[in-house]
Amino acid sequence: MNVSKELIKDLDEMYSIQYNNSVSAWLRTFSKKSTKQDMHAITKLITGESLLEHPHNYSASFTEYHPLGAKYNKTYNCICGCTLCDALFKLTHKPTNRTLMVGSICLTQYFNKYFNSNLICGKNNGFCKQCLFPLIKKGKRKNIEITIPFLCNNCNKPQKNYLNISYAEREEFKTNYDICWNPFPIKKWSWFGLFTNIPEGLLSRVISTKII
Ligand SMILES: [Zn+2]
Ligand SMILES: [Zn+2]
Repeated sequence: MNVSKELIKDLDEMYSIQYNNSVSAWLRTFSKKSTKQDMHAITKLITGESLLEHPHNYSASFTEYHPLGAKYNKTYNCICGCTLCDALFKLTHKPTNRTLMVGSICLTQYFNKYFNSNLICGKNNGFCKQCLFPLIKKGKRKNIEITIPFLCNNCNKPQKNYLNISYAEREEFKTNYDICWNPFPIKKWSWFGLFTNIPEGLLSRVISTKII
């Protein structure tokens, strides 16, 4: 994380924003002296691109959140300084990989108008086990088939499942499973098929922390 000392000082003095190691994101501390609210200026300072101007360069997590938002606990605020939101979610600026904690009301207003409705679906139906997106059972944004209740339609299609197999093990695995070598984008073996159909002997080898 290459952030200048000046920026760290400015964020702290102007907005009471510090990088918080326990959540691995920039987090705003509730403070009576710095109450200035400005989502545009703050996101631009931290990432170089304002959330209001470049929402598509950001991605929000539905499952990484700080449960005690401003409404219940005055320790932290939404990054913009508002006190409207009751939970803070991790928002990542994709080009720089910088992360900040933003309230759900502000994410709905500035990032994606469906953020809050999607979140409610996630709370009711659960989240996709692979991409962690909320599962939506009906309506225009429906993204799940009832036959496979834990994967969204986006994740439930045949794909390359990359595997951790060492050079020494390759012959044994090639004999037992239908695996292919990939020189690109990562030099790894893969098994092609539905995520839900991965043979049991390969499950522990799949390179993914979001594995079922
Ligand atoms: Zn806010
Ligand atoms: Zn998914």
